[in-house]
Amino acid sequence: MKDIETKDHQLTVALRIRPLSDSELEESATIVAHRVDDQMVVLMDPPGDHEDVLRANRSREKAYMFDVAFDYSTSQEELYRATTKGLIHGLISGYNATVFAYGPTGCGKTYTMLGTDKDPGIYVRTLNDLFHSIEETSDSMMYSVSMSYLEIYNEMIRDLLNPTSGFLDLREDSKGEIQVAGITEVSTVNAQEIMELLVKGNRQRTQEPTAANRTSSRSHALLQVCVKRQDLNQEVRFGRLFMIDLAGSERAAQTQNTGQRLKEGAHINRSLLALGNCINALSDKNAHRYVNYRDSKLTRLLKDSLGGNSRTVMIAHISPASIAFEESRNTLSYADRAK
Ligand code: ADP
Ligand code: MG
Repeated sequence: MKDIETKDHQLTVALRIRPLSDSELEESATIVAHRVDDQMVVLMDPPGDHEDVLRANRSREKAYMFDVAFDYSTSQEELYRATTKGLIHGLISGYNATVFAYGPTGCGKTYTMLGTDKDPGIYVRTLNDLFHSIEETSDSMMYSVSMSYLEIYNEMIRDLLNPTSGFLDLREDSKGEIQVAGITEVSTVNAQEIMELLVKGNRQRTQEPTAANRTSSRSHALLQVCVKRQDLNQEVRFGRLFMIDLAGSERAAQTQNTGQRLKEGAHINRSLLALGNCINALSDKNAHRYVNYRDSKLTRLLKDSLGGNSRTVMIAHISPASIAFEESRNTLSYADRAK
């Protein structure tokens, strides 16, 4: 498996196919999404569509390309190493980065980012390695690390470590960098403590039932890690890493939303659309495309952590199941690297 540190990509796109779930098995779903190799995923038309397919005379399967592709056989550690570990060196040297999990509800975004107590995801593995790296270089450098955990829901920002604090605003600080005013900042180097904080914070996320999914995440959750480094000459550098568990990418139309849910859907799509536009502009190496970060709270907050000298990693998620075919196709074409 490739290490992204060896690559020169400003943008890395990864794809993870989760294992078939018990409920999909109960519905007699078959597997239609396969990882072919390190970079290729194939999606087959679900059984039953054969005659239509033959009539339309088109291929029964379509291939999609990524910088790196994972499936049920990929461990949390492997995924972390291949996508995120390589960002730590930059972070402690003063570079910004963003890692985000994209995909429909139920496809493994929270599993990838937060994970479980027994098998933690990217958040905890990154922080552990960050603290190790800092320890190793602390003879010549002084570091301070602070973390905050927030959600963007309906274009409003809430502090997941202090949910009673109401809605928070974005402000530009004296250096022109966007900050969340009044957000709780934690500095602990104890991994167990961090996991507890994040699990507790995650329970504060806005999750309400919709017709399509019992617990669809309606919010984007962002773990922000800021590293300040001071060398022996008193030169100071700041690096900022965002690790983001995005709201489900399923369409508002698919969840038969009305009223409040529809409004949420529109906001979610606005943030995801704005993010998608930024990512498209980043992957378009030749054109100097105008990127409008002001289109949503999410992209405003990420302004200094997308593009420029920053590294961006998108991890798109799909289910392998035949019954998730449409959603998988949407996600694969959103994330496909072979444009
Ligand atoms: P999302 O956050 O995208 O809505 P979740 O992360 O909650 O989805 O995943 C849905 C279910 O599938 C959870 O029970 C989760 O533990 C399980 N799951 C997701 N990805 C994996 C994986 N790679 N391996 C094992 N179980 C997974
Ligand atoms: Mg989730």
